[in-house]
Amino acid sequence: MTRTPPTAASAAALPSLDRLLRLPALSALIDGHGHSRVARLLRAHLQALRERISTAQLSAEQLQQAIDGPALVAALDARLAADACLDLQPVFNLTGTVLHTNLGRALLPEAALRAVTRVMTAPVDLEFDLSRGRRGDRDARVQALVCELTGAEAATVVNNNAAAVLLLLNSLANRREVVVSRGELVEIGGAFRIPDVIRSAGARLREVGTTNRTHPADFADAIGTRTALLMEVHASNYAITGFTAKVDTAAMAAIAHEHGLPLVVDLGSGSLCDLAAFGLPREPTVQEALAAGADLVSFSGDKLLGGPQAGVIAGRADLIARINRNPLKRALRMDKMGLAALEAVLALYREPELLAQRLPTLRTLSRTQGDVSAQAQRLLQPVRTGLPVDYTVECAVMHSQIGSGAQPQAQLASAGLHITTARRGGLDSLAKRLRQLPQPVLGRIADDALWLDLRCLEADDEARFVDQWSTLRA
Ligand SMILES: *Cc1c(COP(=O)(O)O)cnc(C)c1O
Repeated sequence: MTRTPPTAASAAALPSLDRLLRLPALSALIDGHGHSRVARLLRAHLQALRERISTAQLSAEQLQQAIDGPALVAALDARLAADACLDLQPVFNLTGTVLHTNLGRALLPEAALRAVTRVMTAPVDLEFDLSRGRRGDRDARVQALVCELTGAEAATVVNNNAAAVLLLLNSLANRREVVVSRGELVEIGGAFRIPDVIRSAGARLREVGTTNRTHPADFADAIGTRTALLMEVHASNYAITGFTAKVDTAAMAAIAHEHGLPLVVDLGSGSLCDLAAFGLPREPTVQEALAAGADLVSFSGDKLLGGPQAGVIAGRADLIARINRNPLKRALRMDKMGLAALEAVLALYREPELLAQRLPTLRTLSRTQGDVSAQAQRLLQPVRTGLPVDYTVECAVMHSQIGSGAQPQAQLASAGLHITTARRGGLDSLAKRLRQLPQPVLGRIADDALWLDLRCLEADDEARFVDQWSTLRA
């Protein structure tokens, strides 16, 4: 007596792709997503079934159920949903770090959204001079705004500040020396290290001084025939304290100019307004660096400026012209959406009194502890109700950070919810559940607690936050 192995028989029972695609049950999916997408998903699904058959995980009866219309539709829907998970997902940033690089840094104001939508959906005079009827300059509008706001003679923009520093050094210091204090040879994260960038730009690093102390004579002594420029780097993400000495921008500019060299300042975050006016720790502004004698200043668009990812270089017109002639400029240039957003954000700086209202970054940074604390009180009960009973939650004082390398020492008095539990592994498992919510909630685990800093939870989002929190207990 011969016995057909059940697995072989079942594999043969799998219908062809073409036959399944003709099932009436699939027609709605095909209308909604197109024949080729559905065919691709179905092929993957059949392959998965084939593998389960070959490992004897599927009975003949189960196979019949798996290939009827409704079961196939459900399986394909699940595959479509899994594909959608690859999309960027909005999250609640309750980490306490406002400009969080891993979470996309600055949020754009309404005005920028409108500007971006406009350039995405209609032709625009991006590189066309409407008054003269000929080719125009894509950076002209941003340049005019940067000059108006900072007092710079000229400006140019690229993809991000790392690109700005690379372009600037390659344009002005290729095969020549860049003099930098040892205390400023920073690593910003994501592989941006000043010594490496200098090398990648084709320039040579000439480091001077010591880690903690650098004096004017260190710079003056290092200048020679091969020197291209002096560079000051904002020590964004760390602070040197104690027995320290630093040559300030004005003194560095004086030394550079005595030798006929430019001073370049990589400001990093680069604020355009005095943050002290918003109750925040002071950060050097672009205007101050230029007024102190910097010939070029570079800064990011999506840090304290509160705009899109961009790198701005502002300063002397002759140097900007050299930078714009570098073929790398073309390779690193901004796209029209970024330019539109940057223009819209810069335009807001013309009305500084309204900035804290209009610019999400400043609005969030300048929230008072009292305001955040009142929000924590409002959310305490709904959050407590949503949690399993062996978790304890209370309102607590917290300290937010600006993030993105601005003022690493500065702590912004804030408030939020402090969650503890006696359950072993309970904090990690809660953090994981929170990451799996439709709009994932990201907090910070420290000192045996999960800290949810509410500084970045805008009033408009509060109801949505509470609604999905109430599903946790289920
Ligand atoms: C953040 C930073 C950069 C890099 O800027 P991106 O816009 O992130 O490319 C460069 N230099 C300094 C000092 C910075 O703080």
